[in-house]
Amino acid sequence: MTSRAVVKIGTSSVTDEVGGVDQAVLNRIADDVVSLARDGVEVVVVTSGAITAGWADVGRGRARPRDAVTLQAVSAVGQPLLMQSWREAFARGGRGVGQVLLSPLDFSHRGQYLRARATLEALWSLDVVPVVNENDAVADEEIRFGDNDRIAALVANLVGAEHLLLLTDTPGLLTADPRLDPSATLIEEVSAIDASLVEIAGVSRSGVGSGGMASKLAAARMATWSGVTTVIAGARAEHPVRAALGEVGAGTVFRPRPERLAARKAWIAFAVPSRGVLRINQGALQALLHHGRSLLRVGVVGHDGAFVEGDAVEVRGPDGVLVAKGLVRVAAADLDGGDDVVVHRDDLVVLRSR
Ligand code: GLU
Repeated sequence: MTSRAVVKIGTSSVTDEVGGVDQAVLNRIADDVVSLARDGVEVVVVTSGAITAGWADVGRGRARPRDAVTLQAVSAVGQPLLMQSWREAFARGGRGVGQVLLSPLDFSHRGQYLRARATLEALWSLDVVPVVNENDAVADEEIRFGDNDRIAALVANLVGAEHLLLLTDTPGLLTADPRLDPSATLIEEVSAIDASLVEIAGVSRSGVGSGGMASKLAAARMATWSGVTTVIAGARAEHPVRAALGEVGAGTVFRPRPERLAARKAWIAFAVPSRGVLRINQGALQALLHHGRSLLRVGVVGHDGAFVEGDAVEVRGPDGVLVAKGLVRVAAADLDGGDDVVVHRDDLVVLRSR
C-alpha cells in the first residue's frame, strides 16, 4: 500500500456538460480519499475546473472568452466555487480541506518549494486534505503551467509520493483516439515513454481541459524519473482512486524508473526553467555519461543564453541531443576565462541513457 499519493482530476471530469461542478464525481473521489486516509495514506488532491466553473457562473451562456486577462479573472470566480464543492464532498466523511494555490515560481525557488512541502505536511497533520490548483488569477501568462498535469507531477515529487493518479475522461491511454478509431484499446502498462507513445498521445485534447494526453505523458515522464508510479485512469468509476491504486487494468500504469532521482535532482531536472544551453565535446560527454564527473570548462565548446551563476541550463552533446540539465557555477559572460568546474556533478542530472 502506498503511503502518499497525489490525485489530479481534470476539468472535463470535475465539471458537467454545462460547466457547473459535478458534485457526484467529487463525492466519489472524496469518499475514496477519506477511506485511504483512514488507512494512513496521505493524499494531495490537485483539481482543475476553476475557469470552467467560473464561466458557468458569470458567463450567462456566452461563448467562453479566450483572452488571458478575462480567463484569469474568471478563475477567481470559479476557484471558491470549486473549493466549496470539495469542502462539501469531504465533509461527508468528516474531513476538512485546505486550498493551496501554486505557481511555477513556487517550484523553481528552492525556499518556496520547501515551504510548500511544509504546508502540505502540516495540513495532513491537522487531518485536512490539501487541495491544490495553479494560482491562475495572478500567474504570469508567459510562465504559467496552464495544465495541472505537470503541477501534479511536481507535487508528487515534492512530497515524495509513491503514486500519481491522473484522473480524466478516458479510461487511460488508448492505442488511438476512440472518436476516430472505435477499435482503440487501453494500454495497460508502460515501462518506458518512447517516441511511439508520444505519437499515440498526439495532441489529443478534450473540449474544456487544457492538458490532453501529451501533457499527461510529460507529467508521467517527470514522475517516473522521480520514482513515482503514475496511473492515468477514468474519473467516473465507482471507486476512481481505489481502483487506480489497486486493480490491474484500471487505467494505464507507468512504472517508475528503477533508480529514483534524489528529490533535489528531480527538482533541477524538471522544476527549474532552463536559462541557456551548454554544448559539450565528445570527451566531456563520456565523462558525464560513464564516469559521473562534473562538467569542466575544457569540455564546453559553445553556449547560448545569458545565464548567471546558479541558473539551470541544458547540456547538449556534439550531436545536439540533450544529455543533462544542471545548475551552472559560472555565468555565461565569464565562461571563456572562468573557473574549471562549470556544472558540479552534485548539481547535474544526466537525462540521456548511456
Ligand atoms: N488551472 C486551470 C483551472 O482550474 C485548469 C488547468 C488544466 O486544465 O489542467 O481552470
